[in-house]
Amino acid sequence: MKQIRTRFAPSPTGFLHVGGIRTALFAWLLARQNNGAFILRFEDTDQKREVAGARKHLMDSLHQLGLDYDEGPDIGGPFAPYTQSQRLANYKIWADKLVASGRAYADPYSIDEVQAYRDEARANKQAFLYRNHRPETPPIWDGLRPLRFKSDPKPYAWTDAVMGDLQTGPEVIDDFIVMKSDGYPTYNFAHIIDDAEMEITHIMRGQEFLASVPNYLNMYEALGLTPPIMATMPHVMAENGNKKLSKRDGAKDVLDYIRDGFMPETLRNFIASLGWNDGTEQEIFTTEELVAKFSLDHVQRSGARFDEKRLEWMNGTWIRGLPLDELAVRVAKYWPDEAASTSSEYKLSVLGLIQERLKFFNEIPELSRFFFIDLPVNPELISGNKQLKKFTSYELLGWLQTARNEIADSNFSAADLTDRLNRLLETTGQKPGVLFSLIRIATTQSPASPGLAETMALLGKDRCLERIDSQSTHLA
Ligand code: GLU
Repeated sequence: MKQIRTRFAPSPTGFLHVGGIRTALFAWLLARQNNGAFILRFEDTDQKREVAGARKHLMDSLHQLGLDYDEGPDIGGPFAPYTQSQRLANYKIWADKLVASGRAYADPYSIDEVQAYRDEARANKQAFLYRNHRPETPPIWDGLRPLRFKSDPKPYAWTDAVMGDLQTGPEVIDDFIVMKSDGYPTYNFAHIIDDAEMEITHIMRGQEFLASVPNYLNMYEALGLTPPIMATMPHVMAENGNKKLSKRDGAKDVLDYIRDGFMPETLRNFIASLGWNDGTEQEIFTTEELVAKFSLDHVQRSGARFDEKRLEWMNGTWIRGLPLDELAVRVAKYWPDEAASTSSEYKLSVLGLIQERLKFFNEIPELSRFFFIDLPVNPELISGNKQLKKFTSYELLGWLQTARNEIADSNFSAADLTDRLNRLLETTGQKPGVLFSLIRIATTQSPASPGLAETMALLGKDRCLERIDSQSTHLA
């Protein structure tokens, strides 16, 4: 059997958002699942759209996500180079073949002439087609004019590995540009040549290319090439509305997610779930499971919706699944400055407590700062608290004093503190929502914390009593 070879073929025009890199993930999964090869190719034939730094950024994104490629612009391979602008001689050979076989012609028209043809078609309520205006005697192709494909309009029926059986009529076939007047091929032509020369077996790409497929099929025929299997990915829809997720609408760079402390495992899991499931309710997949279970016939045909809250939930689930010492290694650079002088044992204990609620590593400073420094008393924590704002300062102060007396005798183990906190509910006759919120605010100056008894145990008696005293002074 032929080795499966897939490719990711981005244009270096910017960063990759999660929708953009999904094609890469699916192509990578298919290759890894079949002991095939995954190839990176830069499609830079539209030089005007090139963005400085985009190539490195694209490669970094793949590396950080763990989508290693076997052949590519920076590592070479049997079909190097893997950058289209370095393959111009290859396209020229194939373009010359088309000219020689009478299947391409130099486009003689000026922009104004084409516009006149368009206007004429519109006036006649007809679709504009270049092929209706083929020149009788085209000029010799000197490379300074665009070269157009002389298409052979006919109906097509083909099977897309995701979209299923598709068919179109001859009206969608037209004479598209093969080579532009700047000497570069169009995407429409170049990708066909590259995929053939690089022996690509499966093309995975976005839905925006689907309408052009009949024209590609026509070109494959003209060149005597067998088309690879095509798999068209449904759009990834933006969180709201009926729009495709796009950079213009604020879709984030995948590297930003990595920087914010989303784990590569999560991102692979999450991105795979945008339009794919294994037919069960399972949501968390290890990468090994994805490799084993991925299949194109379970990629859905309709758009998948991006949901950042779900990404956060998923990352939290992955974080809780990590052994504490491994999590500690991963979060090493996320601690707040205030933690710099604390021991790694103490930080490990803090991490053990916040692991439960952490959604991404960048939340660590906010969730943990009070473990390292005394935050100033913030009166808004009480005035803004639904339960506590109903009471007078005098009442709150009374309960805080009762609490102080109770815990002053504690050995400050979490178990003893738990007992005493529960006893306090009885002595004060208050609900946990009131009493524990009050004690939490006093001891942490934060609206939320891990379990109160565990938090206080880690902070230690002196610190807790001092903080309760500071809060009391403010209330008095
Ligand atoms: N260069 C195209 C893009 O960036 C790739 C399409 C394809 O995978 O063939 O959208």
